Amino acid sequence: MLIKRITVGEIKIPLKVPFKTALRTVKEVHDLVFIIETDTGLQGYGEAPATAVITGDVLDSMRAGLDLIAPRLLGRNLFDFNAILRSVHQAIVHHDSLKAALEIALFDLRAQQFGVPLYQLLGGGDPQIKTDLTISVNDVDTMVHDAVQAVAAGFDCLKVKVGGRTWRDDVASVMAIERAVGPNVALRLDANQGWAPKHAVQVIQALEKAGVVLEFVEQPVKASDVAGLKFVTDHTLTPILADEAVFSVRDALHILSTQSADIINIKLMKTAGITQAMEIVSLARSHHKTCMMGCMLESGISVTAAAHFAVAFDDVVAHIDLDGPQLCNGSAINGGLTMDGPWIKLSDAPGLGITAVHGLTNLKVYDV
Ligand SMILES: [Mg+2]
Repeated sequence: MLIKRITVGEIKIPLKVPFKTALRTVKEVHDLVFIIETDTGLQGYGEAPATAVITGDVLDSMRAGLDLIAPRLLGRNLFDFNAILRSVHQAIVHHDSLKAALEIALFDLRAQQFGVPLYQLLGGGDPQIKTDLTISVNDVDTMVHDAVQAVAAGFDCLKVKVGGRTWRDDVASVMAIERAVGPNVALRLDANQGWAPKHAVQVIQALEKAGVVLEFVEQPVKASDVAGLKFVTDHTLTPILADEAVFSVRDALHILSTQSADIINIKLMKTAGITQAMEIVSLARSHHKTCMMGCMLESGISVTAAAHFAVAFDDVVAHIDLDGPQLCNGSAINGGLTMDGPWIKLSDAPGLGITAVHGLTNLKVYDV
């Protein structure tokens, strides 16, 4: 079974409401979509967003990277799977989101090759999971309104974006949301690097003293400030989660071995795909820690892959933050995951179960 064609194109899907964090405001998903085809007629799908402020990837840089990688994949036998993956990773350094998208498409093909859904290829599991929903940083009234609406739609876990403003504003908005949604809704905070270490401790301790129970606080400080992350972890009772601080298995090893965070956020766009994500899961398991499965602003293709991954490794992946498709106003795919309120359900169709992607523009085709 030979790789005979690779196609890249772009999709744009507007968001229901602007996505606002301490780092950025985004109004639409604008991602690259990759289709890898075999000489037997199988099609594997991958997707990558341009998250410049987190991964450094932009659309043009991913396209330029594909110019280097595609010729190394064309004509290769899909049964030489590990060698093909090495070709993806050794062609160019960085470009993690591009590599993630290509790995996703290749794993999609491999699962189709064996006639099983991806989660079964990865080890099986119960193909339904429950995600949180993100509440963007806004004024208190807007955040409370968005939170109440999310709970009415069935979500019982909210990820509240904080940071980039005074600590009193952060404390006030979280307390107002907690009062509005009640004690049966789990709250997790994500500061997206928006706090200094002492500022983070001040906010978290204020909430702890006020009796607000948080499931965890995500990436309170700058990605590169591991000492600061450890300071926050050491000075609060609330679990602390490392997101932007962990891309690679080496990053995860450093964070876990220094006990700088309690939970690791795995995003395929940071781990450059499924292979390294599996290594981080093993590492976390060996340190008796859990992981979260997260996503960037991604639509249904790559989030379907992340959901398959989360299902297969649910002993470690204990937290799910895969609300990308929920934030989108519409979908560009046939097949893949289905969303029912907070529930994500996977079909037993082979691979990712995606049969078509609509509305691709700016196509480029690489042929044997
Ligand atoms: Mg985050």
